[in-house]
Amino acid sequence: MRTHYCGELRKEHIGETVTLYGWVDRYRDHGGVTFLDLRDRSGLVQIVSDPQRTPDSYEQANTLRSEYVVEITGRVTQRPEESLNSRIPTGDVEIYADKIVLLNAIHKQLPFQVATGNNDPVREDLRLKYRYLDLRRDRMASNLQLRHQVVKAVRRYLEDIANFIEVETPILTRSTPEGARDYILPSRVNAGEWFALPQSPQLFKQLLMVSGMDRYYQVARCFRDEDLRADRQPEFTQLDMEMSFMSQEEIIELNEKLVAHIFKSVKDIELPHPFPRLTYAEAMDRYGSDKPDTRYGLELVNVSDILKDSGFKVFREAVANGGIVKILPIPNGNDAISNVRIKPGGDLFKEASEAGAKGLAYIRVREDGEIDTIGAIKDNLTPEQKQEIISRTGAKAGHLLLFAAADAPTVNKTLDRLRQVIAREFKLIDSEKINLLWITDFPMFEWNADEKRLEALHHPFTAPHPDDLSDLKTARAQAYDLVFNGFEVGGGSLRIYQREIQEQVFEAIGFSPEEAQNKFGFLLEAFEYGTPPHGGIAYGLDRLVMLLTGEESIRDVIAFPKTQQARCLLTDAPSTVDAKQLKELHVSSTFKPKT
Ligand code: ASP
Repeated sequence: MRTHYCGELRKEHIGETVTLYGWVDRYRDHGGVTFLDLRDRSGLVQIVSDPQRTPDSYEQANTLRSEYVVEITGRVTQRPEESLNSRIPTGDVEIYADKIVLLNAIHKQLPFQVATGNNDPVREDLRLKYRYLDLRRDRMASNLQLRHQVVKAVRRYLEDIANFIEVETPILTRSTPEGARDYILPSRVNAGEWFALPQSPQLFKQLLMVSGMDRYYQVARCFRDEDLRADRQPEFTQLDMEMSFMSQEEIIELNEKLVAHIFKSVKDIELPHPFPRLTYAEAMDRYGSDKPDTRYGLELVNVSDILKDSGFKVFREAVANGGIVKILPIPNGNDAISNVRIKPGGDLFKEASEAGAKGLAYIRVREDGEIDTIGAIKDNLTPEQKQEIISRTGAKAGHLLLFAAADAPTVNKTLDRLRQVIAREFKLIDSEKINLLWITDFPMFEWNADEKRLEALHHPFTAPHPDDLSDLKTARAQAYDLVFNGFEVGGGSLRIYQREIQEQVFEAIGFSPEEAQNKFGFLLEAFEYGTPPHGGIAYGLDRLVMLLTGEESIRDVIAFPKTQQARCLLTDAPSTVDAKQLKELHVSSTFKPKT
């Protein structure tokens, strides 16, 4: 019905008669002339209704209110000099409305303003309940458009340049262990049995390699029943890929080109590649994290060897028990950070204790270069130890050195957290910077203290490093993660493709042969029919788009997200179901509603 979208009108349309459809964004009366901004998906254009020049539309124009849906026919006209608006792409022109047809009014008061440029904060529960209105707002509309551009760039690169094909995999499936709880669905036809929703298409994509599909991708919905955080959703989207006959180097290179193509397409940014790399061991050592934000320094320094015989019991015992002592050196921290903040009750102490540390020791390097050891370690460092610490950390006058001593995971978690807090406080993060970084050589397994067993760090289909086969339990994995400004945006690995190795890995994580057969017999069997060497990766699409839009929550880049209580406020799901439905599904509930 339309001749043009609102946002596409430019100088070259001047003189044309156009028919537009959309919503009234804002309206105002200016000296007896009515001005409207008409909005559609493409943007805004100014409509003018003047009793002198367009008498037929004037009366109608004055009945319109924000968010009314209208059809407008009129002439594209040059704006007078004084009303040119360079902030909007249509700011050179305006439309003199010959005809205005009201297609639908609004019958209720808007729960919040949706007009373009209105940045008043709105409660998120309201935004989610009236999501269809929230998505009219320019910020959300542009987030969804950017998301679409990302997916389009991905498809273009993978299909036209890299020869991938898209294959859909089942949603009703058997559970794949990706480390989270499954969403499960009862089967009506097969009484007593359950489907799981996929945590990822991992096994199907590997089976597609067995089928000879060679290069597969999918924009895949995945489901994980986890406690939610700002960047988690019960259902989320992965860009999922798998490829055969490619080395880790080739997979990494292809993915760098893909990511560079995305940045070029949606942001017009030339991303230099190859991206830097760190091994897992280096990343943990220097940053205490396997997803470090490398836009700033503040690197950690291991001083376990210097302090293993220290007079300070906490240091000595940490090292004796197989733990470590590490320092976060903070340039100019001496003045900026008071003792109160580091001691019990202080904010930095609180950060540390939330990460599991019992406390923080510290040294101040005063402006005159004198070293102040404070509190518990005051009398427990020899002058030689102090000197060694200063020279290893490169500390200068004004430095504050924060120490953590415990088992390595606790120390790393503590100092990683403090490093981030300090970087924000000291404004060390350049928000213009884009740092992409590969982390490689992850360990195959980590110890799950609750279940007292080894657990696959990536997933149990990840291939061990060929040099480490003699001791699988301590082996490195051929796994890689892509980190973007401190967020893990992608992760993948080369896969096991031989039955014996897969069986050994299942054994290492504590599966009995029967259990392995029972859960993954189909995979083990497939490996006996000529499985090619293969590997892949998956990107968290929501998180990637969140970072590209500069949003802080993935909810702001998902059209219809769930709340942190895993509810959809728009449809009010989940909901109860009829007793009859449960009966058909052979399910009875143990839940007793509170009365
Ligand atoms: N399936 C993995 C995940 O969801 C990614 C991969 O290994 O391709 O993390």
